[in-house]
Amino acid sequence: MQHYDAIIIGAGIIGTATALELARKGFRTLSVDRLPAAGYGSTSNSCAIIRTYYSTLDGTAMAYEGYHYWRDWAAYTGVADEAGLARFVECGTLVMKVAHNGYLANAMRLSDTLGISYRELDTDGLRAFIPQVDTGLYAPAKRPEQPGFGEAGAGSLSGAVFWPQGGYVNDPQLATHNLQRAAEALGSHFRFNAEVHAIRTHAGRIAGITLRDGEQLNAPVVVNVAGPHSARINDLLGLNERMNIHTRALRHEVPHVPAPTRYDYSRLGTVTSDSDIATYTRPASGNMMLIGSEDPECDPREWVDPDNFDRNLSEQARIQVMRVAQRNPDLGIPNRIGGVVDLYDVADDWIPVYDRTDIPGFYLAIGTSGNQFKNAPVAGKMMATLIEACENGHDHDADPLSYRFEYLDRETSIGFYSRNREINRASSFSVLG
Ligand SMILES: Cc1cc2nc3c(=O)[nH]c(=O)nc-3n(C[C@H](O)[C@H](O)[C@H](O)COP(=O)(O)OP(=O)(O)OC[C@H]3O[C@@H](n4cnc5c(N)ncnc54)[C@H](O)[C@@H]3O)c2cc1C
Repeated sequence: MQHYDAIIIGAGIIGTATALELARKGFRTLSVDRLPAAGYGSTSNSCAIIRTYYSTLDGTAMAYEGYHYWRDWAAYTGVADEAGLARFVECGTLVMKVAHNGYLANAMRLSDTLGISYRELDTDGLRAFIPQVDTGLYAPAKRPEQPGFGEAGAGSLSGAVFWPQGGYVNDPQLATHNLQRAAEALGSHFRFNAEVHAIRTHAGRIAGITLRDGEQLNAPVVVNVAGPHSARINDLLGLNERMNIHTRALRHEVPHVPAPTRYDYSRLGTVTSDSDIATYTRPASGNMMLIGSEDPECDPREWVDPDNFDRNLSEQARIQVMRVAQRNPDLGIPNRIGGVVDLYDVADDWIPVYDRTDIPGFYLAIGTSGNQFKNAPVAGKMMATLIEACENGHDHDADPLSYRFEYLDRETSIGFYSRNREINRASSFSVLG
């Protein structure tokens, strides 16, 4: 029997950030993960895009705060990692103005409120980023078997907005390893190939966990940061029935294809988000383009068992490439498409849950909905603030805590991320958050 101040279930990017921030507050932490290394779960296949446009003020502020930690990554982690440090590639983010996103009026208003710089582009301005751009309108997104697939409708794009403060992290698994090393430097422990099988309580509060092999580890605090397995972990305590917001695993395909020909992609390429063709893209090493989906109505949503899903790319990957080819006519569509398949842990309103629970000592950092990699350092700090205050007797349900963004010098309510909130209708109900 071993004793810790806090056990963190899951060593992905959010779990390791939580471990690091708890360690910085003096907690003796243990992180357990069923996989062999940190960041080997859904984090490893993240597109790791860092952007600041979200649907809500709280979401935007958190993302902008998060951006600063990636920019100052070496200072934030404060360690020398023998594997090297992850790199933030600040290529900027380019978002198309379309009817579906209200021509970005709300996103620009939120940026104005928070002082986030951006530049509006007309179609000539857009060509400075994507020289061969096709400005046709293709919405609503369709599948190849539907009439009109690949045919532009009336009108053309009315431009885009470029947010220079954004980009992507080149290696999300390495970033997670960096946080592991930073936490270990403060005395945190990590156990891999260790699957949590039960969560034990005593006299109404958390007592510890039991691993699949029967080993018991004790701590008065346990944090569920199990990513797409979050609902499974909550089930161990029968918690899902007592929360308003629920989480489910959604399968997602990300094809990787060579960048369009006649496009100086390594110099001009940015992150793009294009709701007209329902895709997002980002550059990757080797002159490759990664393509994610904004999950349009016509595509079936694949809610899956996180322990049993198909990791092979399907026809869906080819459809995403074809959609991007509508905007980039020089994009080749390879016969064999490479890429990754992984899971989002989706909350009902696509906004995460960072909260306590009705079991004293049990906390949640779940429902990251395909869009919280960028927020990991802030989420870790919020969780540590919440856990410290609740363990010192604060009733966060009755009196939601505030968290002060360090870079923005601005307060936010951690209550925004409550497990018992009403569904937030201001959300995009998509990966855009
Ligand atoms: C394809 C894809 C693209 C994405 N793109 C972006 C993006 O561009 N930008 C962005 O900001 N976000 C993006 N995201 C979202 C982001 O990657 C996630 O929000 C983030 O990685 C979640 O981290 P986590 O630590 O919560 O979960 P995970 O990385 O999933 O970690 C959870 C860990 O819990 C462990 N675990 C589960 N059950 C148990 C158990 N019983 N016992 C022990 N361990 C257990 C797992 O092994 C796993 O390692 C994307 C996600 C995906 C899947």
